[in-house]
Amino acid sequence: MTHIHTVLRAQLGDRLVVGMRGGNMGHGVVTALREGVVELEITVETPPPPRAPVLLVLALPRPKVLRRVLQHVAAFGLEDVVLLQTWRVEKSFWSSPLLGAKEVDAALRLGLEQAQDTRAPKVHTARRFKPFVEDTLPGMLVDRRGLLAHPHAPPCPRNVSGALALAVGPEGGWTEYERGMLRDAGFAPVSLGRRILRTESAISALLGRLL
Ligand code: SAH
Repeated sequence: MTHIHTVLRAQLGDRLVVGMRGGNMGHGVVTALREGVVELEITVETPPPPRAPVLLVLALPRPKVLRRVLQHVAAFGLEDVVLLQTWRVEKSFWSSPLLGAKEVDAALRLGLEQAQDTRAPKVHTARRFKPFVEDTLPGMLVDRRGLLAHPHAPPCPRNVSGALALAVGPEGGWTEYERGMLRDAGFAPVSLGRRILRTESAISALLGRLL
């Protein structure tokens, strides 16, 4: 509502883009507007935009970064995100309140609003690397091409068709053991060049290049 008042500066009769969470998109005509109140007459009959067929396997970033990453992945329309414990992920990140369902949902929602979408990626957590990679990941990888982002690897391909699984490491990077495990699970290492990018830049650059 604040957004309608202060950013869109809507007037009576204006048409605003609206969407029902998890459902259709459409528009709302402003029928009443005063402080603290906005009334819209809503029509929602257009399906939301298609998903980007991508599963992101992401080493759990620090809470502030996580919040931004969740906004990005919702705006990009990813299907699933797995937040993963790796050797160089600080254990304390797992106790952040930002990992609570409400906080996660609020971040995803900002991304959806930004991108004009209604369906958020599903967010999963995996606090044990080895069992996740050995037991859970194979089922998630069926019919997906796996790519592991690592600065020192062959160049990342462009405009890839079909479903993808993209693994992005923590601030300190993947260990050799982790890269080996993920390679055995079917992830091919790919690079964006030798410059080390921040997690959210790496994710955006990878998606921009691949999709
Ligand atoms: N110091 C670490 C980099 C950590 S950056 C190292 O040298 O490995 C965090 C994550 O972002 C990396 O694990 C990788 O998945 C991704 N990333 C950052 N820069 C990248 C690049 N140039 N190419 C591919 N992936 C990159």
